[in-house]
Amino acid sequence: MKELQTICIRCPIGCHLTVKEVNGEVVVSGNSCPRGAEYGKQEFTCPMRTVTTIFNRKNGGTLAVRTSTDVEKSKYFEVLSAIKSAPEPTNPHFGDTLIKNVCSTGADIIITEVNGPEL
Ligand code: SF4
Repeated sequence: MKELQTICIRCPIGCHLTVKEVNGEVVVSGNSCPRGAEYGKQEFTCPMRTVTTIFNRKNGGTLAVRTSTDVEKSKYFEVLSAIKSAPEPTNPHFGDTLIKNVCSTGADIIITEVNGPEL
């Protein structure tokens, strides 16, 4: 039987969850609220993650970027690779989109910080 032990990250309490499939149904225990059940089921069936990283600019500066929504955990490294190889925007600003629908996930890559080169 497939079983998953995980910690709920929906709030700082961090309940220890056990997730199992029983008679075709995903059952979560150890959660103190419904959000934990939802999180456990998501982790068991299709874990999702927000991707955040740094895009290195040719001038030595950086752009902090993140996905606009969570993407499937299985696509995490594919998304990182797409960000790394994206063309550099000419005049980037906070909130600009670096990549639309990255790796067909439905998420965009958004610029959250623009940092100039170290002087
Ligand atoms: S199950 Fe509820 S109380 Fe426990 S960590 Fe998750 S959100 Fe917080």
